[in-house]
Amino acid sequence: MRLLIVSNRLPLNGVQQNGKLIFEQSAGGLVSGLSAYLDSLKSTSAQDIEYIWIGWPGITVPDKMQPEVKSVLSDLCASPVFLSEEAMDKFYLGFCNKIIWPLFHYFPTYTVYDKDYWFQYQDVNKIFRDAVLEVIKPGDIIWVHDYHLMLLPSLLREKLPHTPIGFFLHIPFPSYELYRLLPAAWGNEILRGLLGANLIGFHTQEYAQYFLRSTLRILGYEHKLGQILSQDHAVKVDAFPMGIDYQRYHSIPSGSEFGHNLKELEQLLHGFKAILSVDRLDYSKGISNRLQGYKLFLETNPQWCEQVVLLMIVVPSRVGVEHYQQMKRQIDELVGEINGRFGTLNWTPIIYQYKHSPLDSLLAMYRQSDVALITPLRDGMNLIAKEYVASRTDQTGVLILSEMAGAAKELGEALIINPNNLEAIAGALQQALAMPETEQKKRNQVMQHRLKGYDVVRWSGDFIQELLQVQKDQFFTL
Ligand code: UDP
Repeated sequence: MRLLIVSNRLPLNGVQQNGKLIFEQSAGGLVSGLSAYLDSLKSTSAQDIEYIWIGWPGITVPDKMQPEVKSVLSDLCASPVFLSEEAMDKFYLGFCNKIIWPLFHYFPTYTVYDKDYWFQYQDVNKIFRDAVLEVIKPGDIIWVHDYHLMLLPSLLREKLPHTPIGFFLHIPFPSYELYRLLPAAWGNEILRGLLGANLIGFHTQEYAQYFLRSTLRILGYEHKLGQILSQDHAVKVDAFPMGIDYQRYHSIPSGSEFGHNLKELEQLLHGFKAILSVDRLDYSKGISNRLQGYKLFLETNPQWCEQVVLLMIVVPSRVGVEHYQQMKRQIDELVGEINGRFGTLNWTPIIYQYKHSPLDSLLAMYRQSDVALITPLRDGMNLIAKEYVASRTDQTGVLILSEMAGAAKELGEALIINPNNLEAIAGALQQALAMPETEQKKRNQVMQHRLKGYDVVRWSGDFIQELLQVQKDQFFTL
C-alpha cells in the first residue's frame, strides 16, 4: 500500500550547486512523524506502507530542467508539482495569504477579495489534481494537507470514486460569521471541495464544530456525531490535535553544535532571568501585544529591571505581502523604544534576532529560558508552545500561552492569558518569574506526560487509521 501525501510545499530545500540543483530533506515535524509512523508499521505488522510526497519543490524550475528534477526527486520519495512564478504569486501570496490566511485568523479587514486570485486558486488545485493522477496506483490512499488545497479532495473524488482521501487543516477554521464573508460562490465551492474527502481533520473540536456549522448553513448538510452524508459518500469530521516529535525535543542532540550554542547562551544570559519569544513574522502571532505587555511589566515592576531579558526571535515570512512589511517596521520601532527607554549601559531589555534558527540553536534557547511567552491573537495550534514544554528535561520553566492558540486546549497547566489584555501579560510575567520550582515541575510534568502520549507519530497514525476505518464503514452507512 502507498500513502500519497499532498501539500503545497515538498519537505525539501532546493539549492544551486555548481549549476546543478541539489535537494536536501528539511526536518519538519510532519515528515519525521510520518516516517516514524510508517517505520513502526513495518516493524509491528505485516502491513508495509511507502509514502510519496507530492508538492511544489520550493523554486521555479525551467521547463528544460523539469525531467531531471523529477528523476532526482523520485529517489527522495517526492514528486514535484511545477508552478510558474506568476501562478505562485496569485495563488500563494494572493489567494492563500491575502484571503484565506487573514480571514481564517480573524483579520477580515486584511482580506483582499480579488477574483483573479480565486481563478488562480482553482487552476492550481487542478494542477495538483493532475499531478496526483499521474502517480496514483490502485490501492493507494491520499492525505491532502492544508488551506492551499481545499478544492483538491473533490477534484480527486470525481476521478477516484473509491480511493480513501483524507484532508487536514493546519490553521483554524473560523466561525460561520467570518466564513460567510467569502463571496458565496467561493465559500460554497471550498466547502464542497473539502467534502470530497472521507475524513476531514482539524486541530480542535471547536474548529470542527465551526466547519460543521458552515456546511449546515451554506450547503444544508446536517451531521450525526460529526458524520455528513454528502451526495455519494460519507464524510467524517473530527479533531486530531497535532503532536510534536517529543523525543527529539526531550533528548540531548548528538553533535557539538548544540553544546556550543548552549554555552554561548549561558554566557550571554548569565545572571539574568530569560523570557523567550519565538515566532514567524505574522500579524496573527501577537508580537506587538507581547512587546507592549513586556513594556507594561517593566513599568510596573521596576525591581525586575536589569534582572530579566526578553530573547525575541522573529523569523522572516511572506516578505512579499505588505501587511508583513508594516508589521516588521512596527516591531523594530517598539523594540527600539523599549531598549532605549529602559536599557542601561549594562543591560539591554530585549535581545532581538530577525532570522530563522536551526533546531540545535532553538533547542538551546528552549533549554536556557526560564519563561516562554507565546501570545498569538489566533493560531491553529502553535507547536512552539509544545516544543518548549517538551524540551524542559528538568521539568522547570513556565509557559505563558494565549487562549487563542489551539495548543491552549491541551496545555491547561500553562499560565493562560488573553493576548489583548496587556495587564494579563504583565501579570503572568510577574507570576511566572516568581513561581516556585516545585509548582513549575508539577505543571510541566502533567503537560509533558500528555505531549509524550500524543506525539506526532500517534497523531499521524490515528488519522490514517480513522481514514481507513471511515472508508471501510462507507458501505454500511450508505
Ligand atoms: N522554527 C524553527 N526555527 C525558528 C523558529 C521556528 O525551526 O527559528 C520551527 C519551530 O520549531 C516549529 C515551527 O517552526 O516547529 C513553527 O510552528 P508553529 O506551529 O509554532 O507556527 P507556524 O509558523 O507554523 O505558524
